[in-house]
Amino acid sequence: MGLGCWSRPTNQRAESQLASRYPEGNSSHERPAHGEGTERTMARSVSYVSAAKLVSMARGNNRLAIIDVRDDERSCQAHIPGSHHYASTGFAARMPELARTAADGKDTLVFHCALSQVRGPSCARMFSDYISENKDTGIKNVMVLERGYNGWEALGYPVCRCTDAPCKGTCS
Ligand SMILES: [Zn+2]
Repeated sequence: MGLGCWSRPTNQRAESQLASRYPEGNSSHERPAHGEGTERTMARSVSYVSAAKLVSMARGNNRLAIIDVRDDERSCQAHIPGSHHYASTGFAARMPELARTAADGKDTLVFHCALSQVRGPSCARMFSDYISENKDTGIKNVMVLERGYNGWEALGYPVCRCTDAPCKGTCS
């Protein structure tokens, strides 16, 4: 199923309120977003970072990488400058590639999807498990961008529409 460029029928304000009320992403309160199934298997917590914090963390820091796990939306919406695209569909199979390329030489990875409610945290946890079994990656922090790409864009942070892979932009 292609997610395409449909306009998400969720209430953005409700999502924001939900996100701010549960900033640690308490999964028992997460509503699965459209097309994201009903995953409830997130036992492990990952830390969340706000867009403002991400910008300050990324400034002058070449050890941080942003991993966008949106699916088809990335190609028809914009993206965070400098982010790498690893779609949530098929993400598990691409984790070794992610470790070798986007994560190479990094110590912090920040994951996000559209809202960072389901796909972003889920992929972050998967990758966190992966690196705990593959300790040679050098990654120390696996984080999730609060409110995801949609929150980033709504807050007026810079976005990029290039088709380069990887994107050569910088988010700070
Ligand atoms: Zn770009």
